[in-house]
Amino acid sequence: MSYPDTQLFIDGTWCDAADGRTLAVHNPATGQPIGRVAHAGRADLDAALAATQKGFATWRDLTAAERSKIMRKAAGLMRERAEAIAAVLTQEQGKPLAEAKAETLSAADIIEWFAEEGFRIYGRIVPSRGSLALRQMVLRDPVGPVAAFTPWNFPINQVVRKVSAALAAGCSMIVKAPEETPAAPAALVRAFADAGLPPGVLGLVYGNPAEISSYLIPHPVIRKVTFTGSTPVGKQLAAMAGQHMKRVTMELGGHAPVIVCDDADIALAVKTAGAAKFRNAGQVCISPTRFLVQRSVRQDFVDAFTAHARRLQVGDGLAAGTQMGPLANPRRLAAMAAFTEDAVARGAALLTGGKRIGSSGNFFEPTLLADVPLDAQVFNDEPFGPMAAIRAFDTLDEAIAEANRLPYGLASYAFTRSLKNADLLARRLEVGMLWINMPAMPSAEMPFGGIKDSGYGSEGGPEALEAYLNVRAVAVMNA
Ligand code: NAD
Repeated sequence: MSYPDTQLFIDGTWCDAADGRTLAVHNPATGQPIGRVAHAGRADLDAALAATQKGFATWRDLTAAERSKIMRKAAGLMRERAEAIAAVLTQEQGKPLAEAKAETLSAADIIEWFAEEGFRIYGRIVPSRGSLALRQMVLRDPVGPVAAFTPWNFPINQVVRKVSAALAAGCSMIVKAPEETPAAPAALVRAFADAGLPPGVLGLVYGNPAEISSYLIPHPVIRKVTFTGSTPVGKQLAAMAGQHMKRVTMELGGHAPVIVCDDADIALAVKTAGAAKFRNAGQVCISPTRFLVQRSVRQDFVDAFTAHARRLQVGDGLAAGTQMGPLANPRRLAAMAAFTEDAVARGAALLTGGKRIGSSGNFFEPTLLADVPLDAQVFNDEPFGPMAAIRAFDTLDEAIAEANRLPYGLASYAFTRSLKNADLLARRLEVGMLWINMPAMPSAEMPFGGIKDSGYGSEGGPEALEAYLNVRAVAVMNA
C-alpha cells in the first residue's frame, strides 16, 4: 500500500525545507519506516509567518459567504477522498481503518458546521444613555494569524477543529502538525488548498516542536495560540503566550472517571465504556480511565468488562476484523509496562493484559486492573493507552470526591437510572464534558474542552468561534 512523503505548505505552495532536512515516518504496526516528512528550519518559519500575515489580510476581508463556499468545497473533497486518506492515516498512526475513515468523514462535518456558523458572527447595537444620535456598536473581528500545535492521536480531527473555527472567524493559521503522523493532516490541508483557499491563509509545518513553538509564539505576527497535547507542555506554552500577551486555547490531558452506580444497566456500561476505552488504543484525551463502581455491582461489572477486553481483536489497523491497533509510538509501550508494574507492586489485581504483544510493532494487550490503590501511578497520571483501573465505592459522595481529586477536569462518564444521581453528578463533577448512559459524543456543535489542569477554551460550538474573535466597541455620534 502506498504512503506519501510529506512536504511543508507555505504561501500556497508545497515545498521541501529550505535546507532539505527530513525526518523518517514509521508504521507503528510494523516499526518499519514508510516515508519522510520535511523538517522546517528558521527560514521556512519566516516564510510561513510572512505568508500568514499576507493571507490574513486577504481572508479577513472576504464575506462569510465567500469563506463558507471554500470551506464547504473542502468538506466535499474530504468526503470524496475519505478511503484514500483513511489508509494513509492508519499506516502512520495505527488505528483501525474504520476509525480512520470515521475521523476523516467527521472532519467534513466539522468544516461544514463552522462554515455555516461563520454567518452568525453577529455584533450588537447598544442603546445610548444620552442621545438618539449616538450609535453604539459592538463589533467582533478575527484576532489575526494563529499558531496551532496538534498531536498524533487524532491527526486530522485535532487540526480540523482548530482550522475550521479559525477560518470561519476570518483568521489565518500556521499549523505545526505531528511529525509522527504527518500525511493525514497534510491531506486535510490539501483539501482546503484544492478548494481554492487563497495562498498564505493556511500554512503547514513540521520539525522540532519546541524550536517551532518558541519561535512562533513570541513572534509579533502571531496573535493567538492554540495547543492540544499534554498538560506539562500546555503549561509551558501558555506561560510563553502569557509573556507576550497572546490569546490562548489549551486542550490538554485528562483522566476521565467513569461512575457506575448500583442502579445502572451494567451491560450498557460495559459495552459503552469498553468501546470508548479501547478506541484508538486508549490514546484519547477523553478516554475513560478511572472506573469507580458501586460495591454491590462491582463483581458483575468486573466479570463482564474482563470478558469484553479479552474478546478484542488486536492487530494491524489495515487488517479486516481488527478492533484495536498498535500504540502510535514505542514511548507508549514502555509507559504501559511501567503503569502495570507499579499498580501490581502496590497491590492491584491484574485482571487481564499487562504485556506487550509480539516483538515487532507497538502492540499492547487491553489491560484491566482492579482494586487499584489511590496512590498507584495509573490512578494519578494519564495512562494514554489501552488500560483501565477499577475501584469500588460505597456512596455517591465518595465517588464524586474521588472523581474530583485529580487536577484534571476534561471528561467524565456515568451510568445510573436515577435522575437524582444524574442531576447531582451534573452539578458536582468538575469536568468540561459529562456523558451519562452514553458514549462520548463530541459533535461540532457542542463545546469541547476542559477545566482545571485540562486547559481552557472550547473547540466546539459557537464558543469555539469566540476564541478567534476580538470584541471591540465603536461609538459614532451622528452630528
Ligand atoms: P509529549 O508531552 O512529549 O507531547 C505531546 C504533544 O505535544 C506532541 O504532539 C508533541 O509534538 C507536542 N509538543 C511537545 N513539546 C512541545 C513544545 N515544546 N512545543 C510544541 N509542541 C510540543 O508527549 P507524547 O509522548 O507525544 O504523548 C503522550 C502524552 O501527551 C500523553 O500522556 C497525553 O497526556 C498527551 N497527549 C494528549 C493529547 C490530547 O488529545 N489532549 C494528544 C496527544 C498526546
